[in-house]
Amino acid sequence: MTTPQRKPTVRSRAPAVGFVSLGCPKALVDSERLITELKSRGYAIAAGYADADLVVVNTCGFIDAAIDESLQAIGEALQHNGRVLVTGCLGANPQRILDRHPKVLGVTGPQAYERVIAAVNQHLPQPHDPFTDLVPAQGIRLTPRHYAYLKISEGCNNRCSFCIIPSLRGGLVSRPLDDVMREAEALVRAGVKELLVISQDTSAYGSDIRYREANWRGEQYQTRFLDLVRALGALGVWARLHYVYPYPHVDAIIPLMSEHGVLPYLDIPFQHASAAVLKRMRRPAHAENTLRRIESWRAQRPELTLRSTFIVGFPGETDAEFEQLLAWLDAAGLDRVGCFRYSPVEGAAANAIGEPVPDEVKEQRYQRFMQKAGEISSARLAARIGQKCRVLIDAIEDGVAIARSSGDAPEIDGVVRIRSAAGLKVGEFATVEITAAGTYDLQARCAAN
Ligand code: SF4
Repeated sequence: MTTPQRKPTVRSRAPAVGFVSLGCPKALVDSERLITELKSRGYAIAAGYADADLVVVNTCGFIDAAIDESLQAIGEALQHNGRVLVTGCLGANPQRILDRHPKVLGVTGPQAYERVIAAVNQHLPQPHDPFTDLVPAQGIRLTPRHYAYLKISEGCNNRCSFCIIPSLRGGLVSRPLDDVMREAEALVRAGVKELLVISQDTSAYGSDIRYREANWRGEQYQTRFLDLVRALGALGVWARLHYVYPYPHVDAIIPLMSEHGVLPYLDIPFQHASAAVLKRMRRPAHAENTLRRIESWRAQRPELTLRSTFIVGFPGETDAEFEQLLAWLDAAGLDRVGCFRYSPVEGAAANAIGEPVPDEVKEQRYQRFMQKAGEISSARLAARIGQKCRVLIDAIEDGVAIARSSGDAPEIDGVVRIRSAAGLKVGEFATVEITAAGTYDLQARCAAN
């Protein structure tokens, strides 16, 4: 008797989805979530247009330049692949996309994870045999292995007059603290050494869910900014706080900062310093005396790094208001500063608020602002020569280690270069002594702990 031969299973290649991710770190986290979900359902992620059966473009709709970039990226994906789904902030305005690119297969808005997955499924049927066990517990990330963005909430309850994010992304929706911390723990278990906390308004965390109680590692917490900082500090890795508004309750986290936990670093988008401009911008905490607050933080933590972004040429900004901004910048001595020339965003209330500032005036103000910011940065970095600090190694190139200290967020701030990288490893911490400083970057040599 012959045993019937089992036919070998022929598995065709998994359907592959290409991904183009534009915009801010929050959009990047959305892309990571989508990729993780697609992988868990058995899809492959294509490295380029040619290998993809379908391309998802995650767009940004923040300012006109970002909208243009998104529309161009959709055009490029259509040209090189032809089968394109669009999601993200610009997806909140589907007609704008369809007018320019009528051939896209579908459009969904921001954070529409399930709808994106359903659309992929519709146009590229899901394979029957998903290898869910191939997905690492922490998901698939687009950042290097040793740092990751941790999104604590979606949306925003503020109504800044230059911003359309609340109308695109809706009101604040905070993730309960235990949910955030479980994700943070999984990331740390997977080798992440630095967590970058992001949201639209980190200081407002939990206010929408009345600071809901949460239990994590057997301890009671509330879903609020201070408790989140306490919990993150217990993880033993770096945690960096972005998009923190200077509400009074922020003062309470300053004593909790350390070079081994929640870093002495605050990213506070001040946007301006003139009370009148801030009022026209409808900024949260616009009435706070931020200079006094900064002085008090620095008295407690001299090593605190403050990063911020500003807008020059906001409608109606007078010469005197701009001079006030420069004087404030001098007094505040912010370490890291970015600046945008105001550009009107379709649908933003600011467009009707005051006389537009002529482009050449905006440009002059921008140049003066950046020069002042560079001088402040140089002086503050020079004061660090001779100090020891802890750094995280991001890369080693031609024998030089490219690292970051507690004062340097990835992508947006400067770096610390260590000429002799012998014994240093990417993704590991090292102790270094600062030997030289430029306008934005530092040089260092390895030092004993
Ligand atoms: S805080 Fe202001 S600028 Fe930031 S997302 Fe909310 S409305 Fe927009």
